[in-house]
Amino acid sequence: MGRFRIRVEGIVQGVGFRPFIHNLALKYNLKGWVLNSPDGVLIEVEGEQAPCFLRELKEDPPPLAVVESLEVEELEPVGYEGFQIRSSRTEEEPITLIPPDVATCDDCLREMRDPSDRRYRYPFLNCTNCGPRFTIIESLPYDRSRTSMKRFSMCPDCQREYRDLNDRRYHAQPVACPKCGPRLFLKEGEATLFDEEALKRAKSLMKEGKILAIKGLGGFHLACDATQEAAVLELRKRKGRPHKALAIMVSDLETAERYSSLSPEGKKELISWRRPIVISPKKERTPLAPSLSPDNNRIGIMLPYTPLHHLLMEDFSALVMTSANESGEPLVSSNEEAMEKLSGVADAFLLNDREIVQKLDDSVLASFPQGIQVIRRARGCAPSPFKLWGKFPSILGVGAEMKNTFSLTKRDYLFLSHHIGDLENWESFEHFLSSLEHLKKLYRVEPEVIAYDLHPQYLVSQYAQSLDAEMKIPVQHHHAHIASVLFENRDFGPVIGVSCDGTGYGEDGAIWGMEFLLSRLNSFERFGHLEYVPLLGGEEAIRKPWRMGVSHLLNCEGGSLALPRKVFPAFERELEVLQSQWRKSFGSPLTSSAGRLFDAVSAILGFSGEITYEGQAAIILEREGEFGKNVFPLNFPNKGEEKFILDPSPLIREIAYRKLKGEDPRDLALSFHEAFARGILEACSWGRERFGVRKVALSGGVFQNLLLLSRLLEMLKENEFEVLLPKNIPFNDGSISVGQVAISCAKLEEKCV
Ligand code: ZN
Ligand code: ZN
Ligand code: FE
Repeated sequence: MGRFRIRVEGIVQGVGFRPFIHNLALKYNLKGWVLNSPDGVLIEVEGEQAPCFLRELKEDPPPLAVVESLEVEELEPVGYEGFQIRSSRTEEEPITLIPPDVATCDDCLREMRDPSDRRYRYPFLNCTNCGPRFTIIESLPYDRSRTSMKRFSMCPDCQREYRDLNDRRYHAQPVACPKCGPRLFLKEGEATLFDEEALKRAKSLMKEGKILAIKGLGGFHLACDATQEAAVLELRKRKGRPHKALAIMVSDLETAERYSSLSPEGKKELISWRRPIVISPKKERTPLAPSLSPDNNRIGIMLPYTPLHHLLMEDFSALVMTSANESGEPLVSSNEEAMEKLSGVADAFLLNDREIVQKLDDSVLASFPQGIQVIRRARGCAPSPFKLWGKFPSILGVGAEMKNTFSLTKRDYLFLSHHIGDLENWESFEHFLSSLEHLKKLYRVEPEVIAYDLHPQYLVSQYAQSLDAEMKIPVQHHHAHIASVLFENRDFGPVIGVSCDGTGYGEDGAIWGMEFLLSRLNSFERFGHLEYVPLLGGEEAIRKPWRMGVSHLLNCEGGSLALPRKVFPAFERELEVLQSQWRKSFGSPLTSSAGRLFDAVSAILGFSGEITYEGQAAIILEREGEFGKNVFPLNFPNKGEEKFILDPSPLIREIAYRKLKGEDPRDLALSFHEAFARGILEACSWGRERFGVRKVALSGGVFQNLLLLSRLLEMLKENEFEVLLPKNIPFNDGSISVGQVAISCAKLEEKCV
């Protein structure tokens, strides 16, 4: 009967780890102690069942804990009596982590469905193990009086549970019941209905094909019956969102599996307490409306995560549940705002009187060849703590303009904010500011170092430069992308960083995108990129992919209009203007963007001339490529000597001619993906030969293209590269703030080898 000393590192403080250890020790009848120390949690246990204790600790730690390392040492027994939680051996104030919102637990669901329970069919029941958290917290320490539950005073029954150490609701701050808690109501025109009546009417409206605005945890959803095509089309029309995929909520796991091909890992995430949207391949022959995700072969599904959702889903197999916001603006979160801003969209409003303190979108994950990958971190994930490799002064990375997140550090913690959105207007910038103030206040930090993107036109970069701080660190966009991957993989470089991206400001003033960087955490050297082409008419070229097609075609044949005329006869009248723009490069910055090359190919193949949302042309190109059967070997050469410059002209020319000859555009789309992946592989091989580095790190939003990524990963593996990928940090610009902070830490420390 040995004694074991265990040291656990990671996110193990402020997440209920010590009480968990205490209970686990009691469960296995072990003696000893547990202690928070500056080096993690220290545990000693003695007893026969210690191996079971260790197994359960490894396999089933508390949900909010992140165990990064676990050292076990066997010692001589000393004969402890009992098990103690010892007081911490640390002088520093402990960092309290903000609890994320947790989906309704099974115990609560059982009560909600039990006619004899006092919370029978109550849409806001919750307990210590579930319910709203981050979305209702105003300040710390986490206590009811500092949440938006403060205006509901507990009834005697709720109070009793709250104070009873043996009750599941002991110290559950948002505890509520029909007598004392928030109330459900429905506004339909002048009429107001309450409770069960409101619920019933909401359901019958959606059965009739109507659209509802439903107040959720972090904001409003627009909802309608996802099996009624007419309702979905009407929602699209009213919301001004003609094509972009709409997420759905389905009643249960079986339904999710009937509608989509979930990987085992995807399934695990779908039913986890975070309840994210999981994107997987659509199945055929389902009752779902075809227009839910017309541009791709996948669908985003989530399961009910509040009691209200469970009640609603009693009568539906699938509801559209899309974030309610005006295009480009943050989520709508108050009743007044909803009724004002969504009056032209929703037929009725399903509301409650609990205020949302922090706006929070649904999180989005997707099944990737290497496993599950975060696309958007928000509800359930945010504000997610990551561990830095050392202690640093407080740093703020303000992120990028699109898919913005920010990162804030305190000691050896990095807090990655929730997804803020695209900061293209004042409303979303205000959302950034208020979210930043909120996190600064909760964690009681004032950043001493500010890191920002080089882009002179980013609102956040201008804001960062206007701040008072001891040090400001400008960071190149694609270096930040690669650094976010290095950070997540606990690597300092050197690596061959492959950024496969849409837009990022380069050190030479051009718009960079497809970049090959010999990267360390503290520095990089750009050893290759995609050849520059003019972004004809600037922003216009992003909204109209056919312009990128023209730009690439003009590049192929020295500015001649012959080929563009054949490929884009419909735009005959505009071609000459574009040609003169191309010649004078007036208002047309140069770009090495990978995203724009995908746009160009999509337009040349006739898939997408104009788009209604970012990335649409590339998404359609990917879908069509998935239908392709034949792969032609297309030429995508390197034309540099000192540098590796991928020249897209031969590739574009061949695709255009083959298309004009009448070859199947789907085969050409597939062949393009193949050639593009091979181009990246060759850049990596070139870099390996020159620098002796065989480790490759991949980042950039274009890698969300599965056809490209899976083929590239195969090629890299065949060629014996070691590949670093992100997992809990997105490929897209949601990763930029993490990279900015990681680079700043490295620069402050110059720790890199
Ligand atoms: Zn519960
Ligand atoms: Zn009550
Ligand atoms: Fe980017």
